[in-house]
Amino acid sequence: MNYFSLYKKAPNTTFEDAVVRGLAPDKGLYFPESITPLSKDFIENIENYSNHEIAYEAIRQFVGDEIPEKELKHIIEDTLCFEFPVVPVDTDISSLELYHGPTMAFKDVGARFMARCLGYFNNQTKNPQDVTVLVATSGDTGGAVASGFLGVKGVDVVILYPSGKVSDIQEKQLTTLGQNIRALEVEGTFDDCQAMVKKAFLDAELTDYMKLTSANSINIARWLPQMFYFFFAYKQLKNKSKKLVFSVPSGNYGNICAGMMAQKLGLPIHHFITGTNENKVVPSYLKTGNYEPKPSVQTISNAMDVGAPSNFIRIEEIHNGNFEELKNNLSGYHYSDEETTAAMGHLLKSCNYIAEPHGAIGYLALKNYLKTNNDVQGIFLETAHPVKFLDVLYPGVAETIEIPPQIKAVIDLEKVATQISEYDELKGYLKA
Ligand SMILES: *Cc1c(COP(=O)(O)O)cnc(C)c1O
Repeated sequence: MNYFSLYKKAPNTTFEDAVVRGLAPDKGLYFPESITPLSKDFIENIENYSNHEIAYEAIRQFVGDEIPEKELKHIIEDTLCFEFPVVPVDTDISSLELYHGPTMAFKDVGARFMARCLGYFNNQTKNPQDVTVLVATSGDTGGAVASGFLGVKGVDVVILYPSGKVSDIQEKQLTTLGQNIRALEVEGTFDDCQAMVKKAFLDAELTDYMKLTSANSINIARWLPQMFYFFFAYKQLKNKSKKLVFSVPSGNYGNICAGMMAQKLGLPIHHFITGTNENKVVPSYLKTGNYEPKPSVQTISNAMDVGAPSNFIRIEEIHNGNFEELKNNLSGYHYSDEETTAAMGHLLKSCNYIAEPHGAIGYLALKNYLKTNNDVQGIFLETAHPVKFLDVLYPGVAETIEIPPQIKAVIDLEKVATQISEYDELKGYLKA
């Protein structure tokens, strides 16, 4: 499969090259040249396939012959080492729990798949040069990337995070693993971290010196495997004749955009709903037709504090740049922190379900949609385990949460991070 840049000013390229580069040379996001729907027979008989078989069917055309079948199946098995349960929550509403992986957020899937693809490609080259994955995190990405890439040969990982602005558990997840994973604690905000990473990618002196790539959802190998669990959710539905809608709490819009790819592959998804916090550029766009990115605002659902979602351009491509077509497939709602907290309370008291802020927003958005669309069933994505957001759960809930084993395993390890405050320090660190 070949990929083109959505800015259309760079040559088309292979899966491998797109994965290794992350962004196209013209700074555009890569997008597959074609999307061929899976057979109706496969979708109708999805219960007869294992999750690993489903994932292979979903991804194979996007990899093509660049990774041999046996190897790709192995990568998938290694990536999908945990469950994706659909849990009934309310009338016609279920939660798709994406948090049963090693770092307890959905990003485990994309990070693990991407790490294994990069590792495979690196092993194949005659003169392997280590790839350095440089990534800025506001919390969840760092842990997932650290865990996903741990021990992968030929890949070094450098994670930048804002000092004092990630939760204690998140900090442990990205600073304690050692081996090929290093953490830089930046005196500044997430935006400062991201600006430094961007500067590094544009620094020709640095990129001539070393092979740098990113591990954000702009990378096709992190974005595309997120299709898998939309299929797994459909497989678990008891009643497949009732129309299905997905509600996805969104920040950079990689997750929901992967769901739309699953729909393109023929998965019968009737409609998408995006829930967001005060960073509401997409819901506002759907209402007004004006796309106006803004600086990000800080909220309790901080993994969605994104003012200019990088994957939105892919969503437009999927809908042929047609605003009406997009509006027919996507609804968007946004909520304040107060509404989010109230929703966590409602879920706890009326549905006996513990949600963290991102999932609660997914639930709220779905409820909103169901008010005027009553012949559908909905699934909202619970994108992280509540333990990752202890400080912002519904009052009193944090004390009741049992610490899962994969969190216990890092919590007492010693943090190792190098403090930096400006770009020159990052550059010096990378070159050393
Ligand atoms: C990253 C993240 C999101 C946002 O996902 P996007 O793909 O960027 O839209 C939502 N919830 C949690 C918990 C996250 O970590």
